[in-house]
Amino acid sequence: MKILVTGGAGFIGSAFVRHMVKKYPHYHIINFDKLTYAGNLDNLREVAHCPNYEFVRGDIENLNFLAWFLKHVDVVVHFAAESHVDNSIGNSLLFTKTNVVGTHSLLEAARVAKVKKFIHISTDEVYGDIMEGCFKETDKLAPNNPYSASKAAAEMLVKSYVKTYKFPAIIVRPNNNYGPFQFPEKIISRFSTRLIQNRKVPLHSPNPVRTYIHVLDTARAIDIIMHKGVMHETYNIGTRDEFSNLEITQKIIAFFGKDESYIEKVDDRLFNDLRYSVDYSKIKALGWEQEISFDEGLRQTLAWYAHNTWWWENFPECQYNK
Ligand code: NAD
Repeated sequence: MKILVTGGAGFIGSAFVRHMVKKYPHYHIINFDKLTYAGNLDNLREVAHCPNYEFVRGDIENLNFLAWFLKHVDVVVHFAAESHVDNSIGNSLLFTKTNVVGTHSLLEAARVAKVKKFIHISTDEVYGDIMEGCFKETDKLAPNNPYSASKAAAEMLVKSYVKTYKFPAIIVRPNNNYGPFQFPEKIISRFSTRLIQNRKVPLHSPNPVRTYIHVLDTARAIDIIMHKGVMHETYNIGTRDEFSNLEITQKIIAFFGKDESYIEKVDDRLFNDLRYSVDYSKIKALGWEQEISFDEGLRQTLAWYAHNTWWWENFPECQYNK
């Protein structure tokens, strides 16, 4: 089986590629990535030498190339996106271009090339926020920021291809991922790298609650969906590990032996969803279980950033005048 993974040099995409290359030596895994600021081939060092792994640099908007290239591919797993909400509040048009136009181009190429399966990676943020309880896959989408709106728009295109062309797609909506190789712009990777540098952490709002899942648990869930998921269905991926931004910050600070004087209050986002939560019973019914508890996963992740400064210290975000 030939599997093309878009965005395979990013955070979740690279975890999925590493997982698949190691677990299925008889599959051929092609990592197709533009290498934006968030794409990094260092994330794939562990598998770069494997005969069943291949990297192709390219843009999901390149319809002509992909319509030809995908003729030799069985399954597409589509992670490529602009993924950082803060950036979408700054330059939202780039999010529409990559996440909506890019997904549309890729869908069209995959339709023309007759790929057998298309796994579309969306997000729990498409539901908008929820104060109590959790969203089921059948709940309506009500995104509140340009990032989640672009992801919801992409889903609408996927669904339109399913209805119009009987296109073989499955939609996946994971909650907040954490783990090694996450670009230092999201709360856990950003705060840990700053504390390792003995810098303060900019907390924009203590109250919003997010649910966290280790990226390897997500990679395994997508593997299960790829093999056992029902065509045209949507699957939430989640846990019950809910923490406010302040609670997460306190855990990271405590791990690095600092105190709350390291928290610097900064202005909140123009709008910030208060809580995301999904019902993930459907993926559990396929046989998936969370394997990495939050406490253990966080401990391993923070230790990883401490032991792997080579991976992050040259990013512009991590440069400062000592
Ligand atoms: P990321 O920002 O780490 O990686 C995105 C990757 O896409 C990068 O490697 C980048 O180079 C590539 N890319 C961007 N534009 C491209 C283009 N035009 N053509 C080809 N490649 C391109 O993202 P991530 O955090 O790994 O998220 C992956 C997917 O999962 C995204 O679709 C995101 O919306 C979704 N998601 C992420 C989270 C999370 O917590 N990180 C949670 C739920 C869903």
